[in-house]
Amino acid sequence: MKLHCSCNRYEYYGLLCCHAFYVLRMNNVKEFPRNYLEKRWLKNVKPSKFALPRINGASDAVRNEVLELYEMFESTVDRLVHDLSKLHIYKEKMQELLNQAVIDIPTVPKVNGKAVICSMLGVKEPEETTMNNPLKSKTKGTGVFSRMKPRVEVSAEELSKRRACGVCGEKEGHNSRTCPQAQPSKKQKQQDTTKRARLRESKRKK
Ligand SMILES: [Zn+2]
Ligand SMILES: [Zn+2]
Repeated sequence: MKLHCSCNRYEYYGLLCCHAFYVLRMNNVKEFPRNYLEKRWLKNVKPSKFALPRINGASDAVRNEVLELYEMFESTVDRLVHDLSKLHIYKEKMQELLNQAVIDIPTVPKVNGKAVICSMLGVKEPEETTMNNPLKSKTKGTGVFSRMKPRVEVSAEELSKRRACGVCGEKEGHNSRTCPQAQPSKKQKQQDTTKRARLRESKRKK
């Protein structure tokens, strides 16, 4: 059956237009013309994620068979999921098939992950690394971090760039002002005493 409409909807979108449906209805066609059902509208257009690792690197014939099997299984389950008793029967039959498969092929050859990727990309992993990662370049303005890292997290290279504390000489991330070992300087002591004196005076005035 060939359909053509001057609105060209099928040619543009891959969907039959309402005019075509009208003509089909007028001609008493009850079934949807299958050849006008594009594969892209079907839910099995993409292989299921469980099928993918099994078809990687396989020949086209194997690939098609596996994909069809998955399609069959999924649509069967889709139908039977509404009828538990029939689903049980199906499961038992599947179990029989599985038992037969175990008898036919007792050991499954193990698939190596690297081998799968090699076959997928069509190249072999080189024995020597001839190419290294590119050197990192620093962008201006980066490298300011609000948190002072404790010594454990700091690398030796980073530590050598750090400034040492003038009092204890440690590179812990403090300076002579905030050093826990620092004694208050004479100047600061003087400032403190004058402050206290002023406070006392102001209290007396009150
Ligand atoms: Zn049309
Ligand atoms: Zn210090």
